[in-house]
Amino acid sequence: MFDTLSDRLTSVLQNLRGKGKLSDADIDATAREIRIALLEADVALPVVRAFIGRVKERAKGAEVSAALNPAQQVIKIVNEELVAILGGETRRLNLAKNPPTVIMLAGLQGAGKTTLAGKLAMWLKKQGHAPMLVACDLQRPNAVTQLQIVGERAGVVTFAPEPGNGVGDPVDVARRGIEEARRAQHDVVVVDTAGRLGVDEELMKQAADIRDAVRPEETLFVVDAMIGQDAVTTAEAFRDGVGFTGVVLTKLDGDARGGAALSVREVTGQPILFASNGEKLEDFDVFHPDRMASRILG
Ligand code: GDP
Repeated sequence: MFDTLSDRLTSVLQNLRGKGKLSDADIDATAREIRIALLEADVALPVVRAFIGRVKERAKGAEVSAALNPAQQVIKIVNEELVAILGGETRRLNLAKNPPTVIMLAGLQGAGKTTLAGKLAMWLKKQGHAPMLVACDLQRPNAVTQLQIVGERAGVVTFAPEPGNGVGDPVDVARRGIEEARRAQHDVVVVDTAGRLGVDEELMKQAADIRDAVRPEETLFVVDAMIGQDAVTTAEAFRDGVGFTGVVLTKLDGDARGGAALSVREVTGQPILFASNGEKLEDFDVFHPDRMASRILG
């Protein structure tokens, strides 16, 4: 996903190698090229501005270091600032003191929530938890069945509304799901919620009602990294409408430019917890800002 950005940044930074002392003009020229590379990769403008500002300031004020030549110093600064916009430290999942821990998934339709529910369940199992899925997407036809299938593949129980009762009330299903988890001693509950094609108020209200009913330890905003700049506007809408404690980037295996997804952390202030990079349940991992930065810088 970040191949072009990675190539561009590597070649910009490569140009610095071999130079002795860097003048302010050298740093300005390098910063300009990094700025173009980031913008072309779809990184949001305010994020690019802040990033470039910090890189320039630090590069110009950099102390002469015995260990690093000036080019290496700039590379180090760019790497550190990239790690910073991606969130700095790896953020672990918060677990409730009194189980079950409730994790609610929110995002647009097609973002990959249902798939993620299965991935998360499988990952949680590997971590020694006993997760349960709760199907609260009663909007999209087949969403409940899809979650049940994903749950079966992950080898976990899915709580779903009884068939034949009409559409049902997702808030009620969520509440009963948590009760069932407590009864059956599941220590983590993943609640799948409905997504729409676009942000709308009804969707936000429903997600907020479910949130109020189940008081999740984590509300994860699931965002398709392929949707470009819309990732940022959607993230802002969900932050204001539902609020979330973490982000999951999906479809990082795609060939879109992906920079918008890199902006979500800086724009919303919430950390990226997980990354999804394929359709299989195994294509999933904890998001590590430092590893992602290293991948981007080649
Ligand atoms: P939901 O509407 O948010 O529940 O989204 P789904 O989980 O149904 O996913 C929508 C489509 O994206 C499905 O075809 C998934 O197989 C696919 N998908 C989900 N996550 C990924 C991913 O990380 N990479 C790729 N390539 N496809 C994914």
